[in-house]
Amino acid sequence: MNFGLVAHRLHRLGPDSSLLRWARACEPGLQALGLGLHATGGAYDALSKYKLLDGQLHPVGNGRDGGLMRLVSRMAGGLAPQAALDGVFFLVDPVDPTSIYPEAQALKRQCVIHGKPFVSTLAGAMEWVAVELTNAGLHTLCVPETAPLFALESQVAALVAHDALKDQMVAFAAEHFDTLSRFAGRVATGTTGKRLNDMAWSRGWPQTQPWVTCYQSGPLGGDAQIAELVLDQRCQKVIFFEDPHVARQHEADIQLLERAVCSAQHATTCFNTPTMARRWAQAVMRGPGTPA
Ligand code: PGA
Repeated sequence: MNFGLVAHRLHRLGPDSSLLRWARACEPGLQALGLGLHATGGAYDALSKYKLLDGQLHPVGNGRDGGLMRLVSRMAGGLAPQAALDGVFFLVDPVDPTSIYPEAQALKRQCVIHGKPFVSTLAGAMEWVAVELTNAGLHTLCVPETAPLFALESQVAALVAHDALKDQMVAFAAEHFDTLSRFAGRVATGTTGKRLNDMAWSRGWPQTQPWVTCYQSGPLGGDAQIAELVLDQRCQKVIFFEDPHVARQHEADIQLLERAVCSAQHATTCFNTPTMARRWAQAVMRGPGTPA
């Protein structure tokens, strides 16, 4: 498997930066998974300086030389099968101006189109490694730092799906109803939430209680309301099934929610595809381990 690796300046400077913390904690796991990392200039230089992930890194050049643009092509399949990417770790600083460059947005879009993970936070990158190790039967390599990410009882999950994906969201929630019911709370944008509550009540959830708390529908500001919960660290997991094939009247709100997730680097994770959400749910059911 190959992933892209990008980190904005804020997340790669100094030994305690998100990138270096992740690489140090997850190096044995990433080696065991045999993950190749196609890293853009700054991320490659920072990891090389501290001699981390040696042998797993493939430099793709810095921004000016088109490093990020190459990752977009490779997310779509690239020019040769061995260069294709299966996802990306992109530690985003939402106030870094490059976060709104077309190539940054195209990278996210190609991930969604091809159903590949776009992992934008330190918490998400730690969690992704733990999920894959668990699903590969290598859960003893999970690091203790990831345990709180799986303590669902102290977290709130947001569930948001665009129209073309609402059926998939309802199917995912029904399939993993018990796991999702473990969260301390669930929130949703209006129309998605109504569908989810109908599903929950049809399964015997108490009729007097909503299974999810509904905010406004997306076009009326529901994404922005959920973003505020994320910023307040009152929502730690965003399960967002986006439709990349249509023009969205509330595009700004959608990006606002994604950028809010990036602001909450240490606390929040986001699943951008049904496949990613299912792999997480599968690992939760198996019980992600930490070394004794
Ligand atoms: P909805 O909003 O659940 O109200 O349809 C989702 C969205 O468009 O963001």
